[in-house]
Amino acid sequence: MSDERLHLPVLGDAAPAPRRRHPEWIRAVLPSKPEYFELRAMVKELQLHTVCESASCPNIGECWTRRALTIMILGDICTRSCRFCDVTTGRPLPADPDEPRRVAEMLGRLNLEHTVITCVDRDDLADFGAAHWAETIQRVKAACPAMTLEVLVGDFKGRTEHADIVLDADPDVFAHNLETVPRLSRQVRVQASYPRSYKILEHARKRGAVTKTGLMLGLGETLDEVREVLRELAGLGVDILTLGQYLAPSKQHLPIDRYVHPTEFAELEQFARAAGITHVVSGPLVRSSYHADGQAALVRELRAAKGLAPVT
Ligand code: SF4
Repeated sequence: MSDERLHLPVLGDAAPAPRRRHPEWIRAVLPSKPEYFELRAMVKELQLHTVCESASCPNIGECWTRRALTIMILGDICTRSCRFCDVTTGRPLPADPDEPRRVAEMLGRLNLEHTVITCVDRDDLADFGAAHWAETIQRVKAACPAMTLEVLVGDFKGRTEHADIVLDADPDVFAHNLETVPRLSRQVRVQASYPRSYKILEHARKRGAVTKTGLMLGLGETLDEVREVLRELAGLGVDILTLGQYLAPSKQHLPIDRYVHPTEFAELEQFARAAGITHVVSGPLVRSSYHADGQAALVRELRAAKGLAPVT
């Protein structure tokens, strides 16, 4: 469910050379700083998963050097098989009841201002993992009362009563990615649908949550189709939007239809702002959690504007 699940070999990576040469504006940096290795060791020690690693995210060197990571809960095996995503599909293990404690411990140690947590889809669970989410949020908020917490969740198959369990735990940002335009949704996210995702976002918005969504570009959508989605999101009142380039993880995944030029990203950002979405992050290497660690002040402002309880 996360658009971070895109693979791009980093410069100096031992992985085979990409089959298609990326344009010069898509470059990743080899992780080499001590902070990166310290964070990696901590993730391993606490037996956690991150979408940064599971997806071989091209930004890992940059993000982890700032201690910005996206923990992935409910295991590392997903029940869905989205055609853009590099996370393993299969039959997952039961949810680990100790995982929320370890997530809270990790984030308590890191002393961050903001973080994003995501999950694999768990269509095998009766509540799609909602109760596990709620416990994770509660534990993290208790361990890190001054940190703003963003949760990037699945679609709960459109069952809003399960989204409510997560919303009741009061994450500071409720994020769910539409990923692509309606016409391509079934092709890109085989078991998901645009109306279902829209419904979950709309529900969170109506409940007064700070909401966020993201789209990948370069999957075959037209710019008019993107603009139409942006107008719709503005009408919905979504607070934060990310736009980034789709990069195929392998030959088995959907091919890149085209590279969207940075100037097009900038134009779409302008369009989204003019349509009424105030907070837009748009660029080739943007992922839904990319530079989210710099959004703590924004999230506090948005919560205050909605009359939500302040983060202490
Ligand atoms: S962009 Fe997101 S997934 Fe990628 S390394 Fe940064 S925090 Fe992790």
